[in-house]
Amino acid sequence: MQYTEIMVRYGELSTKGKNRRSFIMQLAQNVRGALAEFPKLKIHADRDRMHILLNGEDSRLVIPKLEKVFGIQNFSPSIQVEKNLEALKEMTQQIMTEIYTGKETFKITAKRSDHSFELDSHGLQQFLGDAVIDACPEIQAKMKQPDINLRVEIRREYAYLSYETIKGAGGLPVGTSGRGMLMLSGGIDSPVAGYLAMKRGVEIEAVHFASPPYTSEQALQKAKDLTEKLTPYVGSIQFIEVPFTEIQEEIKKRSPQGYWMTLTRRMMLRLTDAIRERRHGLVIVNGESLGQVASQTLHSMVAINEVTTTPIIRPVVTMDKIEIIELAEKIDTFELAIQPFEDCCTIFAPPQPKTRPDLEKVLELEQRFDIEGLMARCLAGLKIEKIAPGQAKAADEFADLL
Ligand code: ATP
Ligand code: MG
Repeated sequence: MQYTEIMVRYGELSTKGKNRRSFIMQLAQNVRGALAEFPKLKIHADRDRMHILLNGEDSRLVIPKLEKVFGIQNFSPSIQVEKNLEALKEMTQQIMTEIYTGKETFKITAKRSDHSFELDSHGLQQFLGDAVIDACPEIQAKMKQPDINLRVEIRREYAYLSYETIKGAGGLPVGTSGRGMLMLSGGIDSPVAGYLAMKRGVEIEAVHFASPPYTSEQALQKAKDLTEKLTPYVGSIQFIEVPFTEIQEEIKKRSPQGYWMTLTRRMMLRLTDAIRERRHGLVIVNGESLGQVASQTLHSMVAINEVTTTPIIRPVVTMDKIEIIELAEKIDTFELAIQPFEDCCTIFAPPQPKTRPDLEKVLELEQRFDIEGLMARCLAGLKIEKIAPGQAKAADEFADLL
């Protein structure tokens, strides 16, 4: 079926009262970003619906991209028809003969925003229902939960027919909740945390700590590839690479093994917070999951969290590993995440990190460091790169050429 437009129904944002306008504008911008590769599309967002005019673009390619955009409850690909009964009847019969396999029940749902149209909704339902029965004599009409619900909408200039309703991604349009810094490692949990934060409207920037030469170029590329996997939900994501080598060497040199992990995490959090401030973010997002490893006991969280009062969102904190893995598979980050490239935490992981670090001891140990100097040098070396969909693949192809 050659669709002419996709009609989008908004999700939760319809309950947002005064913010509604900015929500709709943000959603329209995100849809534009997610569908940027289809230049002929025209997007019109009004109060109740968004209409994506296909202008000849293939709906089968557009739909999978649209399914990922947060803030959409569902959408219906539709066919534009001249506003007269003959044309409507003809298209209705054409659609039904194409999709009816001999078993389905049906109903017609009509809606009229142009009240001058010759039939009212009820009359239109009757008229098109008869047309369907003429075309498919065996078909049964069913008002409650029919297999096929053929919707017809009479609007100002044209009429529209649709019979499919595709579930949207739900959530809130990314960006409507403000910006957060996602601490993105190369692991399973943090990309899932980023996905979940985006689902509730948080625009994320990925902050990744790299310690070359202890961590490899591949580990860095893996973090970028994971970021790329999160871009279909928004269009593009800023990736911020933090040079962490000097700090890790210092910690190793000047403190007892049992405290490396806590001191390292505190530095990471301080730096992420400083980056957040520069980038006008409101919160920090990480992939901590309670009790998973030594740094993620409640005692550790308390000792690490002490460096900032900025809210830290931990979307996967109460999830079991299996639940996190299920989501990672759904968003296609799992396979990448389990590639064995060492990240900065594994390389410097002490054999026995403290699961109950003593905050007073931590503060005393930190006296040995020039924290301000270390942070300033580190922040001076940030590398920021915008990651867009398809970019990682392009990098792979490039590697093949070498
Ligand atoms: P993940 O699967 O996300 O790596 P994890 O279970 O392996 O998580 P840790 O390695 O202890 O847990 O890290 C906890 C959180 O700290 C991560 O989810 C991430 O948010 C952050 N983090 C760890 N390493 C890095 C890094 N190199 N760069 C940025 N953030 C990191
Ligand atoms: Mg990890």
